[in-house]
Amino acid sequence: MMVQGPSRSCAGAGDVFDARRVRHWLAECGRAVEALVFPWECVECGEPAEGAPFCVDCRRKLLDGQGLVCDRCALPVGPFTDRTGGCGRCRGNSLGFDQAIALGRYEGPVRNLCLRLKHERNAWLAPWVVDLLLEAHSALRPLPADACVTAVPLHWRRHWRRGYNQADALAAALARRLSLCGVRPLRRVVATPPLAPIGRTERAQIMRDAFRPRRGAEIVLRGRTVLLVDDILTTGATSGAAARALKRAGAARVIAVVIGRAEGKV
Ligand SMILES: [Zn+2]
Ligand SMILES: [Zn+2]
Repeated sequence: MMVQGPSRSCAGAGDVFDARRVRHWLAECGRAVEALVFPWECVECGEPAEGAPFCVDCRRKLLDGQGLVCDRCALPVGPFTDRTGGCGRCRGNSLGFDQAIALGRYEGPVRNLCLRLKHERNAWLAPWVVDLLLEAHSALRPLPADACVTAVPLHWRRHWRRGYNQADALAAALARRLSLCGVRPLRRVVATPPLAPIGRTERAQIMRDAFRPRRGAEIVLRGRTVLLVDDILTTGATSGAAARALKRAGAARVIAVVIGRAEGKV
């Protein structure tokens, strides 16, 4: 469950926390029974899988698909690239966020995973994907104990029409796995068009002022590290705009966490 409004931490939400534990435990029991009755099949290739939605091969491909990347923008870099202060493509650019991490390049099985997660019926995959992400990025931990997790929000009209935001599912799973607070300090106040066919400069212009802090966001965010979750990072215009809004509201550091890193110029 995500915390909205001005409460500073998850403390005091004991009942919610207990209910969450029970729900989590029931879900785990459900998964165990289901695995006995319906053997797992890999969602990527359809081959048998053992107690997980990915077979050994596809799991390896998902974990190893990234290669060497820039610590700042998560774009691929060569083995001899100077990565001081970013790579050649992001150094000197204001990204909005301080760091980006991705499970892998937005291609092959990572792309398929992102496309699957767009459908609510596949939201159950989110905790498994988050587990892969954390395995691939053990350096993400330790985080400050008061770090918090939020999703890049959809405009309310789009959210209402879809009834689901995959970024929310991923953010909730990440908060649970890292035992961090999930928060919703931002609103998306501009209904933006699909950004895929639009270039970097135009995207940045469209996204400027697209996010606004909710009332009380400053109390939630002041001095905190925020993990800002989305499914895909392309030019960084969306995550960058959301990160800037988080920082305007007092966040000390924003780490963009995504599943797929597309090769958009930053
Ligand atoms: Zn497979
Ligand atoms: Zn870079």
